[in-house]
Amino acid sequence: MPPEPPKDAGPGKAGTKAKPCPICGKPASEGSHPFCSERCRDVDLNRWLSNSYAIPAAKDDDEDAD
Ligand SMILES: [Zn+2]
Repeated sequence: MPPEPPKDAGPGKAGTKAKPCPICGKPASEGSHPFCSERCRDVDLNRWLSNSYAIPAAKDDDEDAD
């Protein structure tokens, strides 16, 4: 009887090491890691910025980050 690999490591999954996009769940692309596309990256960025602005933190209003 030949040694068989553990059934947990299914041979059907090849090259699926990338985690799914946290926004839509699609496979992430290398160019927009960890998102599937720049669009989803922007969505996450906007959420992050929105949360940041929602936090009443004492920041310098003079900071012109344009
Ligand atoms: Zn996505």
